Amino acid sequence: MNSICLIEDEQKVAAFICKGLEEQGYTVKAADTGADGKKILAQENFDVVILDVMLPDMNGIDLCKFIRQTDTTTPILMLTALNQVHDKVQGLKAGADDYLVKPFHFSELLARLEALMRRNKSKEDNHLLTFDDLKLDTWTKTAERDGRQITLTAKEYTLLELFMRNPNKILSREYIAEQVWEIGFDTGTNFIDVYVNYLRKKMEKDFKSKLIHTVIGMGYILKQANK
Ligand code: CA
Repeated sequence: MNSICLIEDEQKVAAFICKGLEEQGYTVKAADTGADGKKILAQENFDVVILDVMLPDMNGIDLCKFIRQTDTTTPILMLTALNQVHDKVQGLKAGADDYLVKPFHFSELLARLEALMRRNKSKEDNHLLTFDDLKLDTWTKTAERDGRQITLTAKEYTLLELFMRNPNKILSREYIAEQVWEIGFDTGTNFIDVYVNYLRKKMEKDFKSKLIHTVIGMGYILKQANK
């Protein structure tokens, strides 16, 4: 179930948002001051924060900046009044992901929230790449196969990420040289082959199957051995 933090001091607006979201199956924690909002946010993680710009004790934009110092991923939707359009720009600069001008229809709020959560979900999913029993975490730059950590150098990691982003596709030596070393490929050298072999040794030596295969005259391909 998705949970939402709502920081809004106008009772009518807050009640309207809470009621609507709860009817849609969301859990809502509401605060009517910035200080209260900070407290709630320190206690648990939310899927989205809805943040009003004009709060009695502080400016929502400052609160947004404060949240972003420690939390860069939870989507923040700012609520602004019609006569505070310049707040939109300030809010986005402060790290908000979207804004909505009051008054708004509930259906629009809901559509924005759902879009923010979808976007955030796909960001989270994308940092983990998997292929067969191989896993790559692009945030921590670590690889594991069959649950065992594989220690890679920076170049080996970049090379493996390139293969994992292009599975079942033949990658030419020229393409690999451009993508990993940012240089044109010199046909007189074999350093791509050398690096691919380093990577293979680490990834395949103690494991059940080969994953990086040579395609003679063309390059390399990441694929399952039996396919
Ligand atoms: Ca307000």
